[in-house]
Amino acid sequence: MDSRALFHKALELLPGGVSSPVRAIRPYPFYTVRAKGSKLHTAEGKELIDCCMAYGPLLLGHNHPEIRTAIQEQLHDGWLYGTPIPKEIEFAAMLVADHPGMGMVRFVSTGAEATMAAIRLARGYTGRRGLVKAEGGFHGAHDAVLIRAGSGATTMGVPDSAGVLPEVAALTYQVPFNDAEALSSLLEKKQDIAAFIVEPVMGNIGPILPSRNYLEEIRGITKEHDVLLILDEVITGYRIGIGGAQALFGIRPDLTTLGKIIGGGLPIGALLGRKEIMQMVAPAGPVYQAGTFNGNPLSLAAGIATLKWIKRHKDIYARLDEGTRSIADEIGPEKGCSFVRIGSMFKLFFRDEPPRNYAEAKECDTARFAQFWQRMLDLGVFLPPSQFETNFLSVAHSDVDIDRIGAAYTACI
Ligand SMILES: *Cc1c(COP(=O)(O)O)cnc(C)c1O
Repeated sequence: MDSRALFHKALELLPGGVSSPVRAIRPYPFYTVRAKGSKLHTAEGKELIDCCMAYGPLLLGHNHPEIRTAIQEQLHDGWLYGTPIPKEIEFAAMLVADHPGMGMVRFVSTGAEATMAAIRLARGYTGRRGLVKAEGGFHGAHDAVLIRAGSGATTMGVPDSAGVLPEVAALTYQVPFNDAEALSSLLEKKQDIAAFIVEPVMGNIGPILPSRNYLEEIRGITKEHDVLLILDEVITGYRIGIGGAQALFGIRPDLTTLGKIIGGGLPIGALLGRKEIMQMVAPAGPVYQAGTFNGNPLSLAAGIATLKWIKRHKDIYARLDEGTRSIADEIGPEKGCSFVRIGSMFKLFFRDEPPRNYAEAKECDTARFAQFWQRMLDLGVFLPPSQFETNFLSVAHSDVDIDRIGAAYTACI
């Protein structure tokens, strides 16, 4: 069946024809039947260079042989036990070693679960109710954070989604990204704030890069007000380097959420934190968190294999950075556009200057993006189908792929 026929059938069985909203492309999305390295193969037999990489997890590319072997070895021994397993200790030790100050780990199944647990833990630990997030920051599709949360539809001051209670939304305060002053004055006014949750590089409406000293400043401000800093590194963890943004920018949050890359392409999330705070998590403490699939053996096997591979190939980060630099050089300055990149994260914004926050990102010419996106697809390059989703390179993208991506950009802008 071709993609059009498959989507037609899907529309009757899946809301909007898809399992997650961003995949709903008009008039119909292409269906993938196979993937390897940097390429997706569609139901039509077309080969596409993938710059979406499943929205971030696939740092090593699709179907990486070493990750596949690790999964197969675990499969051989069974894939779910419901008991502790040695791998959770091994993996936790690796994560803790790479994130100074983070002393303990709770493994969950998705990034959303990790942020949900982080927020509950912050409230349990501080005894306060309020939460602050950055406008346009995305932390998973759950109630406390589905408010001005990146690429979704947005209305001022109300939840992004029907079904999120205004009472819940009212406890989530928003500040513009890259505006330390706004955070400072909010925390001066509000005494009841448990935590500030923020992506160090906004990845779901960008990438939007932190301006000079922003991360240091928010660390200082939160500390001064005794408010926990939750750094959501679900995208940036092991993406912009070992130890993520906290290593790159030299800041120490109170809690860290990881996901995506640390599962090697299988579902995972992890909550890391200072030991004193993590001791509050059940069964050590009173903040409840539990899950049938927490620390599931397959995801841990894939995650451990990924991190081991990365540590044997530390030069990949310089190479990936070189890759996005060469795409930027190929494009050069273009009227009405700005190219933003950090390591293997990149995006062409249809706006003269790179956006510094949500309000500026919303000024992008999304109609122009939609045309550009279709032309790129016609030339065999699959970009995430939104002006507001980050593009990713993987280590599987060859120099030839990168040249083709650069050439496609110049042809399609
Ligand atoms: C993807 C993402 C999440 C949610 O992770 P899921 O595994 O999709 O639940 C949370 N925070 C950030 C920054 C993300 O990019």
